Amino acid sequence: MNTPNTQNAIAELDAEHGILIDGQTRGAASAFEVYDPATGRTIAEVADGTVADACSAVDAAHRAFGDWAQTSPRHRSDILRRAFDLMVADTERLAALICAENGKSQADARAEVGYAAEFFRWFSEEAVRTGGAYGVSPAGGTRTFVTHKPVGVAALVTPWNFPAAMATRKIAPALAAGCTVVLKPAAETPLTALAIAGILSAAGVPDGVVNMVPTTDAATVVESWLRDDRVRKVSFTGSTGVGRVLLKQAADRIVNASMELGGNAPFVVTADADVEAAVAGAMVAKFRGGGQACTAANRFYVHASVVDEFVAGFGAEVAALRVGPASDPASEIGPLVSERAAQRVAAAIDAAVAHGAVIAARAEAPAEGWFVAPTLLTGVAPDAAILADEIFGPVAPVVVWEDEKDLLRWANNTEYGLAAYVYAGRLQDALRLAESLDAGMVGINRGVVSDPSTPFGGMKQSGLGREGARVGLEEFQETQYFSVAFD
Ligand code: NAD
Repeated sequence: MNTPNTQNAIAELDAEHGILIDGQTRGAASAFEVYDPATGRTIAEVADGTVADACSAVDAAHRAFGDWAQTSPRHRSDILRRAFDLMVADTERLAALICAENGKSQADARAEVGYAAEFFRWFSEEAVRTGGAYGVSPAGGTRTFVTHKPVGVAALVTPWNFPAAMATRKIAPALAAGCTVVLKPAAETPLTALAIAGILSAAGVPDGVVNMVPTTDAATVVESWLRDDRVRKVSFTGSTGVGRVLLKQAADRIVNASMELGGNAPFVVTADADVEAAVAGAMVAKFRGGGQACTAANRFYVHASVVDEFVAGFGAEVAALRVGPASDPASEIGPLVSERAAQRVAAAIDAAVAHGAVIAARAEAPAEGWFVAPTLLTGVAPDAAILADEIFGPVAPVVVWEDEKDLLRWANNTEYGLAAYVYAGRLQDALRLAESLDAGMVGINRGVVSDPSTPFGGMKQSGLGREGARVGLEEFQETQYFSVAFD
């Protein structure tokens, strides 16, 4: 896909003037480079937004808020539905941009566009279900109405690993609720976000409702938003460390905060699981996006009675993975997003091996570019360092378990609580395990949990709030009630 089409798609964005404020794009005194992770080469230069741009973006969002909040739910719904249609029709261009700046395979990029577009469709459907309640006070004599209002101008901050889906998962509910937004995409992947801004404008989103400030100075730009009285909401997806920083900043003005943070998902296989299905699920749960997903299976806990069969099947699949640039349609796994990420993951493998882990299978990977060969590790001790943090790369460590109490202790021994996976023969066993896991989302005999109609989010230090489902819209609303004299 890295053909002239990709170059055209990038050129059309005019990313050097990629700061979007009040429907106008503008440049900046300086620009920053976006790289193709498969080659390390520069593919675009993007206007490097400043605090002044960030402030102008809030000016525009604040000006647009009154009118947008007053539009009818059906009007907002129709616009979001058009955005869905336009996005689906534009799948190839968007997938090419994702491949170019993120590096994931063509299949993964197309799947992301489909998933991302679904948030526009889902929230176009939710936008018109305005809800509310009418109640009678227990003592009588009073009636109560409960209603909802958009929270106000929302600051959205997104990561590089799903450059389309993390943007639409926030923009769609915000717009459905009647909020206006200022968005800061990750500096690694601003191009996809800019393309989505164009789609929203073509769908009929008025000027000023969606504003974007790409920047290399994330800390200062986002802090300026959190200090601005006109910003009433922050919705962040990224690492737990940055989430903590933003929550502290949000505390100063009690800004409504939604946090989608890091994960460390356990993947459990029981003695009576369908091992073939577990291997297929493990491939998806581990290797989608090269393992760079917050929901990625990070630790495989496999019952001793099936571990040999699981490792043989999983190992054969891992070794057969086609690793290469996204420009090659046959590539199943791309590079990691940056040289630093590739070095970090390679070092984690080396450290695990130095502490006794065994490389049970490994795929071939190109020597140039920011690639790490997909690797299956066995002989991993339950307290090994590689199990403690997000690997965020194509490495699968396998731990053997026999006693369910040990399994649950190990699986829950983490500050994270985002996703988990359970493969078990009997549904009641799977449910018992799932209920015992501290995870906001559990895939049962499935390697995927993401679904726009469901509440996506984490427990413990994996986050606050949920995205998707009905609750994703409520995160952008205030509840208001009227107490009405009745006699
Ligand atoms: P990151 O936290 O480094 O960056 C995320 C975003 O925050 C980027 O836009 C970045 O520019 C910005 N940022 C960085 N420092 C900032 C600061 N001091 N103040 C304000 N903004 C700042 O994370 P990443 O490396 O881009 O993404 C990977 C992380 O995101 C992983 O931990 C992953 O698990 C997590 N993630 C979570 C979910 C989820 O839904 N829970 C989804 C995708 C990714």
